[in-house]
Amino acid sequence: MAGEDKKQQPFDSKAASSLVAELRGAFASGTTRSYQWRESQLRGLLRMTDEHEQDIVAALRSDLGKPELESVLYEAAMLRNSCKFALKELQRWMMPEKVKTSLTTFPSSAEIVSEPLGVVLIISAWNYPYLLSLDPVVGAIAAGNAVVLKPSEIAPATSALLAKLLGEYMDSSSIRVVEGAVPETTALLEQKWDKIFYTGNGRVGRIVMAAAAKHLTPVVLELGGKSPVVVDSGINLQIACRRIIVGKWGNNNGQACIASDYIITTKDLAPKLVRLPYPHVLVFSLYGVVSCTLPYLFQVDVLKNELETFYGKNPLESKDLSRIVNSDHFTRLTKLLDEDKVSKKVVYGGERDPTKLQIAPTILLDVPRDSLIMNEEIFGPLLPILTVDKLEESFDIINSGAKPLAAYIFTNDKKLKEHFVNNVSAGGLVVNDTTVHLAVHALPFGGVGESGIGAYHGKFSFDAFSHKKAVVYRSFMGDAAIRYPPYTNGKLRL
Ligand code: NAD
Repeated sequence: MAGEDKKQQPFDSKAASSLVAELRGAFASGTTRSYQWRESQLRGLLRMTDEHEQDIVAALRSDLGKPELESVLYEAAMLRNSCKFALKELQRWMMPEKVKTSLTTFPSSAEIVSEPLGVVLIISAWNYPYLLSLDPVVGAIAAGNAVVLKPSEIAPATSALLAKLLGEYMDSSSIRVVEGAVPETTALLEQKWDKIFYTGNGRVGRIVMAAAAKHLTPVVLELGGKSPVVVDSGINLQIACRRIIVGKWGNNNGQACIASDYIITTKDLAPKLVRLPYPHVLVFSLYGVVSCTLPYLFQVDVLKNELETFYGKNPLESKDLSRIVNSDHFTRLTKLLDEDKVSKKVVYGGERDPTKLQIAPTILLDVPRDSLIMNEEIFGPLLPILTVDKLEESFDIINSGAKPLAAYIFTNDKKLKEHFVNNVSAGGLVVNDTTVHLAVHALPFGGVGESGIGAYHGKFSFDAFSHKKAVVYRSFMGDAAIRYPPYTNGKLRL
């Protein structure tokens, strides 16, 4: 818990129960319902982020080796934008929404009143530990709830910073942080909440949902999946490759829920992205020299060349790539890479340094579909390319697996775009870019099927933490006798 004296106490079921009781009392007092409270808490989050940006950068560097620019842009600035957008829209969101009534209730008026759910639990993940902890909090306080946040223990520096800062900047009678791992989360999950918002993997998502079911608590599950990128010919390949790279390695070195998991392209186009490497001896021959210039003349190896432009010839030394979060994830990723039928498919990268927990951006060509890497979310710097004869086959490949959190296509073909939008089911789609849908406040962000339940961002965050109460107003006029017994045949014929 935020607060030095309580930090030493074990956070067990009893502690969780008294925390929830305390917050229920605070919620019942009505404080969190007022516009003033919601506004002041959002301003507090904003101020906290402004005044501690360098502490946030330092915590993210400690947890993930995250480059400063990524921390500032994708964690601090995005959180700020969320707060500012909520502050701008809050009055409008809180206003009852007038709706039409029907002849049955004539004369009457009706409206949808958004009411806070009560006391909510937010459990977040380690990869964007600042943003993913606080972005749902923005929605929860905008909607007028009391909140318990449980950050991820896998990003301990950010978790500690959140506990400290929220204690200083937020109303601690209604907003609390509980630090900890499985035992603490289990103790929290045993309690009755009014909503549980969980970000993380599907295995734990199932644990969360089972715990919530005991109390009929609604959940939002922000999960992951294998997000594909389809690459067509006849496009600006350099821009496409840059956008694929930044959405993959430029997002926490691939440790992002909407990072591209694999590429699907045609057999003809694949060498333009990356070719099979030449034997080393050729590097010193005339042919080797020619092969270095050919890519620029005939557009081959574009993905590889752009990667080298961004991260240099020795990406293990690059300061612009996050490291792998911990040795468990490092081992998990090297296992995917070292599977026999996969390791020989590496066409670029593959280097790793266990002492730095770093793996170079790695591209694999034509990995078998039954390999481990094609059957679990990669969540790291490895990018397999699958090739097909006709691009239309890519839709069957995508639709044959679990529904991903995101899917991307690069094409100028209008029919292909339409086909993609109408036939690929994913949490969100982007045409001719990757990951940017995340930044559009007006779009819901969430998964479908295995990639999640529910959505947030912008007004969707407010709605995720509100009950939409249906209210009908009537007067004493228009009291139709047909409603009342006795139910005569005459009434039936009316
Ligand atoms: P994680 O290990 O940090 O776990 C997430 C949370 O679950 C943590 O707070 C952790 O304490 C808790 N937890 C772990 N085991 C638990 C258990 N047995 N019982 C109760 N709680 C438990 O994060 P992760 O799951 O490794 O995160 C990566 C996954 O999250 C990927 O699948 C990724 O795609 C997904 N993700 C999704 C989004 C999204 O917005 N949809 C964002 C980020 C990550």
